[in-house]
Amino acid sequence: MLFSDLARTFDRLESTTKRLEMTTILADFLRTADHDSLRDIAYLAQGKLHPDFHPQVLGMSDRLILKAVSKSSGYQENVVERMWIESGDTGTVAEKLMDGEGVVKGGSKQTSLDSLFEKPAPRKRQMSFEDMGIMESESSGLDVSEVMGGLRRIEATDGKRSQEGKINELMSLLKRATPVEARYICRIATGRMRVGAGDMTFLDALGEAFATKEDRPDIERAFNITCDMGLVAETIAKGGMDAIRAVSVSVGNPVKVMLAERLPSIPELVEKFEGRCAMEFKYDGIRIQAHISRDSVKLYSRRLEDLTPNFPDVARFLRSRCRHDEAIVEGECVAIDPETGFMLPFQHVTHRRKKHGIDDAVRDIPVRMFMFDMVYADGEDMTMRPYLERRRALEEGFDLGGMIQMTTMRVVESEEEGEEFFANAVTARCEGIMAKSVASNSVYKAGNRGFLWIKYKKDYQQALTDSFDLVVVGAFYGMGKRAGKYGALLMAAYDSEKGMFETVCKLGTGFDDAFLEYMPTLLNGNLCREMPRSVDAEMIPDVWFEPTVVMEVVAAEITLSPIHTASKDVYKNGAGLGLRFPRYTGRLRSDKDPEQCTTVTEIGDMYERQTHDSDGLSETGDEE
Ligand code: AMP
Repeated sequence: MLFSDLARTFDRLESTTKRLEMTTILADFLRTADHDSLRDIAYLAQGKLHPDFHPQVLGMSDRLILKAVSKSSGYQENVVERMWIESGDTGTVAEKLMDGEGVVKGGSKQTSLDSLFEKPAPRKRQMSFEDMGIMESESSGLDVSEVMGGLRRIEATDGKRSQEGKINELMSLLKRATPVEARYICRIATGRMRVGAGDMTFLDALGEAFATKEDRPDIERAFNITCDMGLVAETIAKGGMDAIRAVSVSVGNPVKVMLAERLPSIPELVEKFEGRCAMEFKYDGIRIQAHISRDSVKLYSRRLEDLTPNFPDVARFLRSRCRHDEAIVEGECVAIDPETGFMLPFQHVTHRRKKHGIDDAVRDIPVRMFMFDMVYADGEDMTMRPYLERRRALEEGFDLGGMIQMTTMRVVESEEEGEEFFANAVTARCEGIMAKSVASNSVYKAGNRGFLWIKYKKDYQQALTDSFDLVVVGAFYGMGKRAGKYGALLMAAYDSEKGMFETVCKLGTGFDDAFLEYMPTLLNGNLCREMPRSVDAEMIPDVWFEPTVVMEVVAAEITLSPIHTASKDVYKNGAGLGLRFPRYTGRLRSDKDPEQCTTVTEIGDMYERQTHDSDGLSETGDEE
């Protein structure tokens, strides 16, 4: 399978922001793709070399890439660097400077920068797939598997002379690549692919290419229980929907975690469950999904990071106390005060994240895992079994005690019982409660937020405030005391239907001096020249960021806003939803992926539930 066909598809994807068009472009390509290349194609389309849960270590620095571009094109490093400063994208620079044989395009190497930008290398954006025959001659002959192989070698190059080794590997790809191919090879090598087609669009495209509309939920489920787009793509292409339905939960492939909805009071929550539900303490720690096999254990975070090195004691303990050969269980890992035995707030357990000195951290920060679900045991996928059965299986599957315990749970049958349980949770220093359906359909919905689980936190009790996990998409330079720093941030919620981040507030409150200092370090790795393709904003910040960092924010109220784009035109034409008086709580949600932040639907639901008047059109959240 020629890499040029894939690169041209990426180029076409970049020409639109409309999800339906992207889906069709991808589906047309996937239909023609060679089945043995589909796994690689699925990873490369996300700018990755492996499934999401595999640690990505490719991320070459821009400087290293510029060196390789300079050496392969013959242009001096300072020229290449100036072009990069102007365009901000190593891919664009490589595209302008490279041709198929690695010789300079556009005449002499003294060519001015202006002329290079004025006369871009021919783009194939307008080319349709029917034209592909004509473009055959534009292919470098590079195969998808060769590009994947080269990039994986770059990733694997390690040790003393690794920089040189990485540059040489990249050069050998670039020397053969066409300009468009060079653009994407460089972007993948930096880890910033940005063609804008996310997981949901890719799943839509697989459905359009190989199945029917009705099959779409089953395709998504296969992805949610394996977190491996390559596996799903190859399976559907080779074995159709029968093979997709046979995909099962297995140890080693993290399952996308089930998420909870929220409601603002215990009575509403009990009513939602028609008077009967289970309530568990909501612990304030790090969620862990443990994959236990006969002789090893892997611990994954909800962002699919491998946390085993941070909790080696928990991994060992789980193995020694598990009565199954294989199991996948979930729980919340909480730091414990070694002197009092009380649970400590979330921040403490994050010290276990420090890679260095983990032995000291294990000694100084003891933890306990409060287990709350079991999704697999000895060959059985338990996700479709109801909650109470899964919980029983979890309890019976372990020799509990010491570092592992069950979450405190009670089945409640009235508001009063619910309020009492919540008060107990707060006394025990928990964040609140998780209410869970006990109905026969109370399955484990991998990767889904729904009303089978509902959270209720003590924060919600404070008048007029509710907490949101929002993603930073931009920043405004500060003035006065904040001159020379970022003064405020542009924050967005996620629209899972559109796969877009839509703005809800300008956040300038709740930052202490240390955080103001730290902001550039936290955010500048995600700087973008222009509005990222996955962001929809009308308020224009001084700088843009690729949506990555999630922060917890409280606000007084949700109002209609003419400037924010969340749920634009849904509640009123020309208005979106915005947050009034937003304030950073001081809690970075580094455990959440941007797609796991508060959704615009959740904000819409909260807006509808707001009892006080919110008819007035007011710009929200722009005070510093
Ligand atoms: P939030 O992070 O506020 O969206 O709340 C959901 C998170 O609460 C989950 O991802 C878990 O990490 C955590 N959690 C704490 N206790 C429980 C519990 N008993 N059941 C499920 N999740 C829990």
